[in-house]
Formats: sequence, structure tokens, C-alpha cells
Amino acid sequence: MKIDLNRSDGSRTTFDVSVEPSDIELETDLARVKDDISAKGAVSSEDHYTVIEAEIVAPLEIDCSRCLERIPSVHEFVFKSAFASAEQLNEEVEVELDLQDLELSFAEDDEIDLRDVIREQIVLNLPARPLCREDCKGLCEVCGGNLNKVSCDCKQEETDPRWAALKNLK
Ligand SMILES: [Zn+2]
Ligand SMILES: [Zn+2]
Repeated sequence: MKIDLNRSDGSRTTFDVSVEPSDIELETDLARVKDDISAKGAVSSEDHYTVIEAEIVAPLEIDCSRCLERIPSVHEFVFKSAFASAEQLNEEVEVELDLQDLELSFAEDDEIDLRDVIREQIVLNLPARPLCREDCKGLCEVCGGNLNKVSCDCKQEETDPRWAALKNLK
């Protein structure tokens, strides 16, 4: 769904779309879209910008940040963002005054694809350090075994992880 940023006619259009995983290739190796994404929301054309708000339901698979196991989970969130085209930017209007707390993004073209907006929002809403479970034991640093599933006899050097990080820098 393409959204014309230069309408500026005060109109409000609602949408209720389902986007296939192949249309939303996330620019990250840490998560994958497993099923159709639902996006329900509205596009409002204001004088100098366009507001897109939507409720997203995205079935994802995310890698555990400790053991790298895949965690299937449905991510639901809402977002509201404002967009302006280069043309609107050139009008040199004090857009920010009536934006209140909305963040304004500038688009290179006069239109944006709703799929691009959804993709970006999904990545923004990914957890920073996802865990398969609260007490995930992670991988053995020596043999690489998943310590949630196997117990190995490797000798773990008792090092402070912060020092280990410094060691890796060398
Ligand atoms: Zn884990
Ligand atoms: Zn081990």
C-alpha cells in the first residue's frame, strides 16, 4: 500500500491489511517473520505532514541472545509516526510546532510504502536482549554446548565477563 505524502487535505483513511512474510524481510539476522503480519490503522493527511498510526500483530521468531535457540513469539504493538516529503520540507514551515510529541521522518519521495514503515517499526520494537527463558544458561564458552540441554565437563575459567570482553579486543 502506497501512501501519498502530498495530499495535505485533512483526509483520514483507515486500513486493515495483512502482509506476507516475503514482503517484510527484516534487515536483521536476529529475527524472522513466520506468518502474515496484521496491520490495522489510519493515515491522516495534515497540512504539512502525514500521520500513520497502526496496531501491528507480527508472528516472529527471535534468537535467544544467550543460547541462540529460536523463540517463536507474537509481537503486538502500536505506533504513531509522522512523515513529510522533501517538497513539504522545502515549504519551510514550522511543522514541529503542531507535531507535539510525534517524531517527524522525512521521505525522499512523495510517497512511502506502508510495508517499509511496518518493517522499520518491527525492528524498532524488537527486544534488545531476548531470552528463551529468564534463567537461560547460555552456551559453554569452551565446547559451545547449549547448557540448558547438556552439562559438559569443560573447565570454565572464572573470569569477569567484562575482562573477557577486553581480552577479545586484542
Ligand atoms: Zn536461551
Ligand atoms: Zn563445554
